[in-house]
Amino acid sequence: MTILDVAVPCPLRRSFDYLAPDSGEMKAGMRVLVPFGNRRLVGVVLGCKDHSELPAHKLKAATALDNTPTLNRELMKLARWAAAYYHHPIGEVLQQMLPVRLRREKAAQEKSHSYFVLTDAGRSTKGDELARAPRQAALLDWLQHQQGATRDALKQNGYDYGVIKALRDKGLITSVQEPPAHYTSGEPLTLNAEQRKAVDAIAAELNRFQPTLLEGVTGSGKTEVYLQLIARCLDAGQQALVLIPEIGLTPQTLKRFEQRFPGQISVLHSGLADGERLSDWQRAGSGASQVVIGTRSAIFTPFRQLGLIIIDEEHDASYKQQDGFRYSARDIAVKRAADNHCPVVLGSATPSLESLYNAQAGKYLHLQLRTRAGNAKPPAVKLLDIRNSALDSGLGEASLNAIADTLAKKEQALIFLNRRGFSPALQCHCCGWLAQCDNCDVSLTVHIGRRELRCHHCDAKKPLAPHCPQCHNSELQFKGPGTERLEHCLKRHFADTPVMRIDRDTTAGKAAMPRMVKQINSGEPCLLVGTQMLAKGHHFPNVTLVVMVDIDGGLFSADFRGGERSGQLLTQVAGRAGRANKPGTVLIQTHAPDHPILNALINHGYPAFANSLLQERSTLGLPPYSHVAVIRADATTLAAADDFLRQVREAAGMPGNGAQLMGPLPAPVTRKANRYRSSLILIADNRKQLHRLLQHARQYADTLKTGHTLRWSVDVDPLDWF
Ligand code: ADP
Ligand code: ZN
Ligand code: ZN
Repeated sequence: MTILDVAVPCPLRRSFDYLAPDSGEMKAGMRVLVPFGNRRLVGVVLGCKDHSELPAHKLKAATALDNTPTLNRELMKLARWAAAYYHHPIGEVLQQMLPVRLRREKAAQEKSHSYFVLTDAGRSTKGDELARAPRQAALLDWLQHQQGATRDALKQNGYDYGVIKALRDKGLITSVQEPPAHYTSGEPLTLNAEQRKAVDAIAAELNRFQPTLLEGVTGSGKTEVYLQLIARCLDAGQQALVLIPEIGLTPQTLKRFEQRFPGQISVLHSGLADGERLSDWQRAGSGASQVVIGTRSAIFTPFRQLGLIIIDEEHDASYKQQDGFRYSARDIAVKRAADNHCPVVLGSATPSLESLYNAQAGKYLHLQLRTRAGNAKPPAVKLLDIRNSALDSGLGEASLNAIADTLAKKEQALIFLNRRGFSPALQCHCCGWLAQCDNCDVSLTVHIGRRELRCHHCDAKKPLAPHCPQCHNSELQFKGPGTERLEHCLKRHFADTPVMRIDRDTTAGKAAMPRMVKQINSGEPCLLVGTQMLAKGHHFPNVTLVVMVDIDGGLFSADFRGGERSGQLLTQVAGRAGRANKPGTVLIQTHAPDHPILNALINHGYPAFANSLLQERSTLGLPPYSHVAVIRADATTLAAADDFLRQVREAAGMPGNGAQLMGPLPAPVTRKANRYRSSLILIADNRKQLHRLLQHARQYADTLKTGHTLRWSVDVDPLDWF
């Protein structure tokens, strides 16, 4: 009798025994369908054994869904490691690794991946010889610039099966099973000395685990370094994985990769249909696609021969999953590179303090690109003291003048404010009433275009009424600007200039962002208003002025990463100015012109600024000088959440030397969507201690009867404490 040890997607931190199906050999990594309570779930086989603690008649039978393991040995090992490291149930970890399609019952079918390539006749035929069949002519033409393409790639480029068949019937193309040899087009640039040094240092040992922090100022040509490293990796017959931040998936970046490695790229991101995602996932696993570019979850892509991992903008918060399985794709990337004996490159103009610390400790190789590539110069940065000055929708006169000058020179300006909507608060001038969310402890944001008040925490909406609900007066005032208000203001001042707002509200449709990027890249004078969506990865050559409307909020945030995040954001946004041949200027409006952090950043640059933050963290014993985990609870009353955490704290016992427990502490926005939130914070000098403390606390929490109104979760290496 064979018993299967099965990981089932459920919140329990254990696996379950099932009877193996009669036919076929079962292996770890295969999916099975199992009865679980009164449901049937897709589980993953962890291993086989010959006896179970359960009596035989209690064992239920599993049904096989795969003939070969869907998750290979490397991913299975990674899942076990991640479940232990993040104290997360293995069943949920494995489920996260699977593409959505494979989480369902339907068996995974190995897709055959044939490639369409030109025959000799196809190579010597010109498109215009097929003048009466323009689609066929276009496909022939297109293939003459590619080494070969899969049916998916053909489909994505608009060639349906009819066209493919017609060319095949004419003997101009044929299909082959093996991927065409590695091929690049789009000429590589001649590297400057620093770029060359970086490529050589990393490519020197492609078959060894070597984490590298590539710290390159904005516009220094990190992407070119990535591209040339990937080419080396492909030359060595291996595959590469590139992670990019969620919003960094700019059409421009993708185009650069696709031009350099035509037909060899798979893109994995949340916008893909489940089927497309599965097929790209399988192509990587079978070795059919050489380069995978994707956001956070792409870190779980299977590879046949992984030879290089690149994490662009490694400091970006989107690499950390903020709910459920709270993993960091950056940290898992380093682990995966170690397992695969390959280099991992962490690139950023504004590295995280964690990575800088690892570089300083000698764990990471530290390479720097200090100058901008090509002829671009660093922008001039100026602080604008706006205390006591008249503001129009948050913009000072000096800022408006600078914008006018920029437009007069036929250049573009970017106005940055990390707050969408028209105004972050609405108040009655007569009685002081403030529009607040019914479900959260926050003010509602005014959205004028939609005539709505919206909660940015729980998404609740209310119509925007013309009168105060308390005193019925109509003297309602907007407190402070959002991007929508800036857009109105700029349209008023610069009526002849296109104003484009780029934030989550205006880029919801798929086509919106590419359309705006296209207009910006036309180079015509225009104004861009936006949130941090504008900060990431964009290269707009004609933007020469950046105005930051209000960055004070972040500087004074209560969060221990507040300073680090503001510094990164400020540097990244400033980095959009003057990236090509024209010099750039950055104006920072502030009410705190003497703020030490702000001045450190402006006068001495990000590296010095980061060093002073590191010193501060060291003094306070905060990460990266210590390790943190948070147990969060939320409930319908604050007392219930606190009470649960207090019991867990007591059970965890005395933390011992070099470790401490803090809390329960209520979250700054305590009530969110009508749930009260509190945190228990575990801090330890080393990982082992943290792990042990967390183990105790968590095991005890697992045994507590909580009822279903209380929810709790564990977050290892959290970004925030609440
Ligand atoms: P980063 O990612 O570091 O912000 P990019 O890779 O986007 O910078 O490069 C900025 C610009 O510099 C791009 O237009 C790129 O084509 C150009 N560039 C990069 N490397 C070189 C080089 N070696 N010579 C000339 N131009 C370069
Ligand atoms: Zn009122
Ligand atoms: Zn709310």
